[in-house]
Amino acid sequence: METRPGDVGVIVVAAGRSTRMGGATPKVWLPFRGEPLLARTLRTVDRVARLAALALVVRDEERERAVALLAAVAPRLVPLARVVAGGAERTDSVRAGLAALPAGGAEIVLVHDAARPNASAALFARVAAAAREHGAAIPALPVVDTLRRRDASGRGATVDRDGLHAVQTPQGFRRALLERACAASRGSAAITDEAMLVEALGEPVAWVEGEAANLKITRGGDLELAARLAGEGAMTQRIGLGHDLHRLEAGGPLRLGGLDLAGDVHAAGHSDGDALLHAVTDALLGACALGDIGGHFPDRAAENRGRDSADFVRHAVALARTRGFAPRQLDATVHLERPKLAPHRDALVARLAELLALPRDAVSIKAKTGEGLGDVGAGRAVACDALVVMEAVTGASADPSAP
Ligand code: MG
Repeated sequence: METRPGDVGVIVVAAGRSTRMGGATPKVWLPFRGEPLLARTLRTVDRVARLAALALVVRDEERERAVALLAAVAPRLVPLARVVAGGAERTDSVRAGLAALPAGGAEIVLVHDAARPNASAALFARVAAAAREHGAAIPALPVVDTLRRRDASGRGATVDRDGLHAVQTPQGFRRALLERACAASRGSAAITDEAMLVEALGEPVAWVEGEAANLKITRGGDLELAARLAGEGAMTQRIGLGHDLHRLEAGGPLRLGGLDLAGDVHAAGHSDGDALLHAVTDALLGACALGDIGGHFPDRAAENRGRDSADFVRHAVALARTRGFAPRQLDATVHLERPKLAPHRDALVARLAELLALPRDAVSIKAKTGEGLGDVGAGRAVACDALVVMEAVTGASADPSAP
């Protein structure tokens, strides 16, 4: 592992089981403003001043995925980074992170919870400066809500909030101090941050001002709130363009938009020859820069012979969801001499709306003839254009692992 000129090592802890979020996907992989939550934290770490090394601690089965994400969103970090497996308790994960940092060049260690996507690079710098000066430092904000403690019988009593603060991450330490604190820890689920370990040694911990937007994603709804607080910057909308053309041959019906249109021609093609669904598939893939239909479904592949093109659309929608995007609108034009499309338009709109999980008023299918000109005009071809608008989805409802 290389190091940059700097003294800051960052440990990003992303190995939690996310039990309070519900859902099958660990929260660091949930879509957040169009990308996995973890991506935003990695982008911030990439801007941390005097960064010498990064240890990214994830669940063992997510290491490969984390390596790929790091290379995609923060390639400059790759030579500085190691991706390691975490442990059962938070302290085990921090220990694994510490062990992964290079022996020299990271004398100040910042431990950050990946479930706090909105911490700024400036906050990392403030905490690092205070840790350099005092040995240990945490960001915190005064509690402004009235606090009540409820006992087992349901009776409540107001807690005096004077002096109470909510503690955040990143937390910063001189490395030797953090190593000593982790070594002394007997390991307990009650240890919720590293400052507790340092204080258990009797060492002082300095405080710096935290950030109101730096909330921790814990329960359903937190992602949406954090995404709103994150403001502008991430891509929240994408647009894709698709085009397809198929040769027409004698003998109906014509497969188009997932329907069989009665008439005296059909479209030649390796799959079912559905030019409209092929154009829509390419638009979906194009919006998310995911390649094209030929790359995903080669026409030399036997399993694609005669295949229902609705499969291609569903596959493209699922792929886009893994990137955190979902269709919001389709506008398409079919260029066809015959059969006339007008009698089928409502059925086509309904079928496309169903495939894309859109309301019908978000789907438009227009028809053009070729005015007797060219291959379309001569009735030798059907051509289709499709434009889709995709929107970033945020939150557990956008869980890409959900069916
Ligand atoms: Mg095609």
